[in-house]
Amino acid sequence: MERARADRRQKTELARVLRAEEEKRNIANGNPGDIDFQRLIAEFRAARAGSDQPHAAGDLKICVALRKRPISAKEVARKDHDSVTVFNPKVTVHNCKTRVDGITKYLDSSDFQFDHAFGDVDTTARVYAATTRPLVPFVLDGGRATVFAYGQTGSGKTYTMVGIQRQCAEDLFRALTAAPPTRRGSAGGAAAAAATLEVYVSFFEIYGGRCQDLLNRRHRLDVREDGQGDVHIAGLEEFQAASAEELEQLIDRGNRNRTTHATESNDTSSRSHAICQIALKEAGGGGRLHGKLSLIDLAGSERGADTKSHNRQRRMEGAEINKSLLALKECIRALDSGEAHVPYRASKLTLVLKDSFTRRAARTVMIATVSPGASHADHTLNTLRYADRVKETKVADFADA
Ligand code: ADP
Ligand code: MG
Repeated sequence: MERARADRRQKTELARVLRAEEEKRNIANGNPGDIDFQRLIAEFRAARAGSDQPHAAGDLKICVALRKRPISAKEVARKDHDSVTVFNPKVTVHNCKTRVDGITKYLDSSDFQFDHAFGDVDTTARVYAATTRPLVPFVLDGGRATVFAYGQTGSGKTYTMVGIQRQCAEDLFRALTAAPPTRRGSAGGAAAAAATLEVYVSFFEIYGGRCQDLLNRRHRLDVREDGQGDVHIAGLEEFQAASAEELEQLIDRGNRNRTTHATESNDTSSRSHAICQIALKEAGGGGRLHGKLSLIDLAGSERGADTKSHNRQRRMEGAEINKSLLALKECIRALDSGEAHVPYRASKLTLVLKDSFTRRAARTVMIATVSPGASHADHTLNTLRYADRVKETKVADFADA
């Protein structure tokens, strides 16, 4: 009896010393974040080690992927720590909590599963290869493909989209200039079409429900739906690109216009949707549209909460963003289930993307980006819930002590 108690005391003392040493080591390594939570998360990961699945081939009509960025040095210095675990195709958010006793710490972990889950070691090239590369032959075959980056401001939307834009430009022109591939074979396939196609790019932004041309000094654009149900963006400049380099330069110009403006007026880029469209048109065919690839960097998903702001303009912008992100989800869901009614008129964003939702040959990729920090857990959960609802997937919620 006496002995057992002494044993227990000794063990507790040993654990205390080990913890203190580990904490000291962490701080020396520049990681001052909560050691107990980090230990619980490490245990969780050890239990799941090796459960990573290879990335599945990407021939999905709707593909929903998750990307977690690495934690930044700044976040670590602020005593934040990585609280998102990725084992493809699963992602787990660890909500770090303390029991009512005020001492016992525990993780309230939520599991999600997507078509792909990318962790902080996965490069943009890898994300691109699994999600977006399969869209290139699809567009060459006359399809409408759309890639969205959705997530909280600072979670890596632009980082991901800029990399994807570059790789798309390269792959598109590689395919266009390649010797006829034999894989598809048929006369109407990508190779036959490629010989007679021209590439055009346009780039615009939707800010507070208004469209502005990013390749033409933010010229204000009007969006109209004509009697045939075709949507036109009046005044939008379109530039032809004869090579991957030209296409990249044009896209860079649009991206620059976006960010320059952002620093001038307090980060408007987090409140706007940027829409880069690469159109393939038939050469000598009166410019008839063949296929289209839309690459979209969405407004920060947290901006929907600006509806509580004291600033009237912020409030209205927040409401507009909320509306467009909800409409987007509904349109993708309608596309997924093959519903006849697609509510694309519910927002400017979905209106300009009408043909991406209503054509039979349409495919969509949603890349949900999240920050790893425990301090962002609520926003991260919101992003994952949104991505989860875009497509029906299984969710398992569990708490582990
Ligand atoms: P968002 O567009 O969602 O606001 P950004 O793309 O601007 O976020 O990313 C925020 C910061 O994180 C930037 O400094 C960016 O370079 C960095 N970052 C984002 N994703 C990654 C990543 N996967 N690897 C490394 N750094 C990243
Ligand atoms: Mg951004």
